[in-house]
Amino acid sequence: KGIKKYFPIGSGLFGKKDSFVKAVDDVSLDLYPGETVGLVGESGCGKSTTGRMVVGLSKPTEGEIYFQGKKLSDYKNKKALGKNLQMIFQDPYSSLNPRMKVEDIIAEPLVLHKVGTKLERRKRVDELLERVGLDSYYGNRYPIEFSGGQRQRLGIARALALEPKLIVCDEPVSALDVSIQAQILNLLKEIQNDLGLSYLFIAHGIQAVKHISDKIAVMYLGKIVEFSDTGKLFENPNHPYTKALLSAVPQPDPKMRDRERILLKGDLPSPANPPIGCSFHTRCPVAMERCKSTTPILLPTSAQSLTACILYEESHGEKSNVKSESI
Ligand code: SF4
Ligand code: MG
Repeated sequence: KGIKKYFPIGSGLFGKKDSFVKAVDDVSLDLYPGETVGLVGESGCGKSTTGRMVVGLSKPTEGEIYFQGKKLSDYKNKKALGKNLQMIFQDPYSSLNPRMKVEDIIAEPLVLHKVGTKLERRKRVDELLERVGLDSYYGNRYPIEFSGGQRQRLGIARALALEPKLIVCDEPVSALDVSIQAQILNLLKEIQNDLGLSYLFIAHGIQAVKHISDKIAVMYLGKIVEFSDTGKLFENPNHPYTKALLSAVPQPDPKMRDRERILLKGDLPSPANPPIGCSFHTRCPVAMERCKSTTPILLPTSAQSLTACILYEESHGEKSNVKSESI
């Protein structure tokens, strides 16, 4: 609820007294059991920072993360909390210790949480290897002996070891070959169906989260600009930034192919010096004068979606006073 993460970068930059990189700037998001929310946006928009705060790897500058209705900061037993919140990382090469045997890598969370005897842990590792589609004899090997896709399976096995309720998947397939990506996504989906866990699934491309997400949050410069049911978002995106992201996706459906490609001008502005008003106004193809001074807030545009754009507020004037506290 209302989480912010500001990194101080010294003073005097951009003529301001104290300068911060506003990596995450007032994000609220609900995630239900068994559900996947996709979090998408360009590199540097604050997706990973959000993910790290959700699992407690970093603390918000402001705002609170709640797990099962209780603030993370109120959990006395941080270890018990840590069991429930796990993360899978983007790079399956650097996230596995090359000097450790696979069985020790997967058993590490069990050892840290003092779960089971050595023998029981060994058995659990075998189960986990099987769960992610690898043979149990792989346990004796080292990460270097595995391909990228297999390594990501090992990362998933490790994340599952403590039977978490939520896994933040931080671009888990973007470093993999396209042919392998679908296999890993299917595996994650299967695991979710079997275990009922929730995913916050981070990706920079919107297409990458389409098939795995129930809902999608689109981020731009530290803020969520649109939040919607996945079907609804692809069918009828509201925010100009979402429209641009979707227009770049190749369309197999001929009806959708007519959608005009929207090219965004310029680069992503620095989150240390974001534009005043709507932070997307410097690149928005339909920006108006007013967008340079008015900061849009996320408002409901239908039962299944929220959008932060003045254009939308204007055409739905009656709703413009509805302040959305939470998504
Ligand atoms: Fe574009 Fe203005 Fe909407 Fe921002 S508020 S997305 S600049 S139209
Ligand atoms: Mg990232």
